[in-house]
Amino acid sequence: SLTAGIVGLPNVGKSTLFNAITQAGAEAANYPFATIDPNVGVVEVPDARLQKLTELVEPKKTVPTTFEFTDIAGIVKGASKGEGLGNKFLANIRQVDAICHVVRCFDDENITHVAGRVDPIEDIETINLELILADMETVEKRLAKVEKLARQKDKEALAEYEVLTKVKEAFEKELPARTVEFTEEQQKIVKGYQLLTQKPVLYVANIGEDDIGNTEDNEYVKMVREYAKKDNAEVVVICARIEEEISELDPEEKAVFLEELGIEESGLDQLIRKAYHLLGLATYFTAGVQEVRAWTFKRGMKAPECAGIIHSDFEKGFIRAETVSYDDLVKYGSMSAAKEAGKVRLEGKDYVVQDGDIMHFRFNV
Ligand code: GDP
Repeated sequence: SLTAGIVGLPNVGKSTLFNAITQAGAEAANYPFATIDPNVGVVEVPDARLQKLTELVEPKKTVPTTFEFTDIAGIVKGASKGEGLGNKFLANIRQVDAICHVVRCFDDENITHVAGRVDPIEDIETINLELILADMETVEKRLAKVEKLARQKDKEALAEYEVLTKVKEAFEKELPARTVEFTEEQQKIVKGYQLLTQKPVLYVANIGEDDIGNTEDNEYVKMVREYAKKDNAEVVVICARIEEEISELDPEEKAVFLEELGIEESGLDQLIRKAYHLLGLATYFTAGVQEVRAWTFKRGMKAPECAGIIHSDFEKGFIRAETVSYDDLVKYGSMSAAKEAGKVRLEGKDYVVQDGDIMHFRFNV
C-alpha cells in the first residue's frame, strides 16, 4: 500500500506528531495484516460518510479504511554527500510515495532550534536542497549516458536528453522536479528516474498551542503557504502537541475537546485527508448487514481492479458490479428505494469507479 513519509529537521515536532499518529492508530483487531514496523503508523481515514451509511444499513460492524505514515529518521544536512545515516535518509525517502515535511512554526525559548532561530523557509530549503542535490546526481549520471546517443540523433536518447536538461535547469534554480511542466510522454520518461523531488509534498506547519484557532495570524504559516505555492506543494497546519493530547482521547471526549478549541477537524485528521488526496487515493464502500466498510483505491481504477483490493478472486472472476453513488443512496434512504428510482446501475469491467461509490461485486468462483 501507499505510504507518506514524515521528514523534517531535528526539534521541529516530528516525533510528537508520529506519537500522535501511532496513539490514534487503527484498531489492530480490524487490521491483523498491518505491518508490525515501529517506523510505520497506521491510522483510520476519517470519513463522515461511513457514519451515515452505518445509520442507514445498521450493520453488525463498521470498518474504516486505513492510511500509513512512515517515520523517516536519519541525518538531513549533508545527506546528499552520501555518508552513513544521510544515505539512509535519502534511501528511505525513495521508498515512500509522498512526503510530509514538518516545519517548525512555533516559538519556544526552551526548545533549541538547530539553526539558532525559527525560520520555516530556511528549514524547508535545507531539506529541499539535499533532495535536489541527490536528484542532480541522478540526472547528471543519466545525461552522461544519453548525451552521445542524442548527438547521433537517436530518437529515444533525444527525448531523454530534452527531459534531463529541462530538469537540470530547474535544479540549477534550486527548484524541485515537481515544478517542471512535462508533456505526457515526458512524464513517463521522468517517472523512470524516480526522482526524490518529483514526489508530492505536503508541508506540515507545526504551530504552538496559543495559535490554535487563529492559525492564519501566524506569520510563519503565511510564509510557508507563500512558499508552497511556487513549490507546487500543499500545506496543512497542526499543533503536534495538541494532536498528541487528542490522540489519547476517545471519540466523544475528542469531539468535546475540539469544540472547546473552536476547531471542526483535528489537525491530524486534516493531515490524513490531505495526504490521502495528495496520493490520488479515493474511497469506495461495501455495505451489507454484516459489515459496512470503506476501501481505498487509486483514482482511475476500473471495477475489476477495485474488486481485487478485497480479494484477488473477486478480480479474476469479475462479472459485473452493482453500483450506486453515496449521494443517491442517502437521498433515497435504502438500496431498494434507490433501485426503484433507477439509481442502481449494473457496471461492467470498463467502469471507472468513483469516490463514494457503493459497490456490490458479482463474480464467478
Ligand atoms: P523532532 O526532533 O522533530 O522529532 O521533534 P520532537 O517531536 O521531539 O519535538 C521537539 C520539542 O519540541 C519537544 O520538546 C516537543 O515537546 C516540542 N514541541 C513539538 N511540537 C510542539 C508544539 O506544537 N508547541 C510547542 N511549544 N512545543 C512543541
